Amino acid sequence: MAIPEAIRNQSVPKVDSQGKNLADFINLPEPSKDIFAKTLPFYGFMQDITEKQYNHWSRELVGPSANRVMIHDKYTGSVREMIMMASNNYLGLTTHPKVVKAGMEAQRDYGAGAGSVPLLAGTNDIHRELELKLAKFKGCEDAMIFTSGYSSNVGIVSALVRETDVALNDRLNHASIIDGCRLSGGSLRAFRHNDMESLEKALAHCRKKYDGILLVVDGVFSMDGDIADLPKIKELADEYGARVMIDEAHASGVLGSNGRGTPEHFGMEGEIDIVAGTLSKALGVVGGFVASSKEVINYLRFYARSNMFSTAMTPAAAGSLVAALDVIQTEPELRERLWYNIRYMIDNLKALGLDLGNAETAIIPIIIPDEDVLRDVSRYVHSAGVFVNPVYYPAVPKGLSRLRLSLMATHTQEDLDTTLGVIEDAVRKYGVI
Ligand code: PMP
Repeated sequence: MAIPEAIRNQSVPKVDSQGKNLADFINLPEPSKDIFAKTLPFYGFMQDITEKQYNHWSRELVGPSANRVMIHDKYTGSVREMIMMASNNYLGLTTHPKVVKAGMEAQRDYGAGAGSVPLLAGTNDIHRELELKLAKFKGCEDAMIFTSGYSSNVGIVSALVRETDVALNDRLNHASIIDGCRLSGGSLRAFRHNDMESLEKALAHCRKKYDGILLVVDGVFSMDGDIADLPKIKELADEYGARVMIDEAHASGVLGSNGRGTPEHFGMEGEIDIVAGTLSKALGVVGGFVASSKEVINYLRFYARSNMFSTAMTPAAAGSLVAALDVIQTEPELRERLWYNIRYMIDNLKALGLDLGNAETAIIPIIIPDEDVLRDVSRYVHSAGVFVNPVYYPAVPKGLSRLRLSLMATHTQEDLDTTLGVIEDAVRKYGVI
């Protein structure tokens, strides 16, 4: 039942958003014992940022996610075009004709849904074809798919890490890995981001204290766009008897001369124990996967609860993904264009004097430490027609809030130059440079 209108109007507090962020609304003292009471102050905060036109969450796209998008703009009440600089559709495959056509054919031939969980009646031959292709692409014995990258990470980690084991994480690992650790019943530890001294210390400690060690890193870090030091990570893992899991969400299709990801980038294919990732970014569709030895995959099919208890991926998604894996390998010019765009934007944003952290891939953070300034910059950039997301604490550490740009192979020179012009105007206007 909804909160009664009279109570709601009386008690939604007016919240001034100045200097506040999402974390300020977690664990507030409860004004009453009603389980919904906690939702009211946050609602007041959202009302305030919407009135000030700072609310750019969940902008509605009217049409496909491409380099240019049409959005329904709640502030102007109109449908308008924007340059999309916030999508993970790195190679532009969401609208690739072969990928779209294969999905439509799979939907026609197999129906709209899989009808059951994968272990019971929900596995189509097209799902298995996708798994075998993924295993080959990642240089592993076998692979399995999930309905999202989030559920694959949660499933893998929670299945493998038991009470006496530990999951050892880079501090900037994705939330899905952390959630998997929390569900696992095992221990959760972290080392400083991509800091190999900190990792070695943590490994030495874990080796004494726990049984199995699952050392987990993102290949490309989702908020910073830098690359894990995989050779050193693997060397240390071997020294301390840890297994390595890498989340290739932002690396598959992007890194390596054939787009096979971080291990290919470092010439280490076949050396990483567990290669996981999502099928929703460079692959352009939706879903997650894990590739590993046949024994690990067989185990996960039965113990990764997010797979076992959840209906299989739609046939349309599986059909599109089979085609997407082919396109990634047969159209290297997409990756070449993406890398041209990455270099062009990093060079030109740095030339403006902006702080991009250690960005080196398609994700480019522009660090703007003051969240109130970031809100103003973000509102300006939105009204000037560039779609980019601001990221605030707690999604990133305090003092490291940022505009997060994502580049695609389908961005034209005009898209890049217009975006640079808009960002330059915004950061000058609000004193970032
Ligand atoms: N891992 C990383 C590093 C990610 O950035 C994401 C996507 N936000 C995920 C996993 C989850 O993937 P999905 O969106 O397919 O659930």
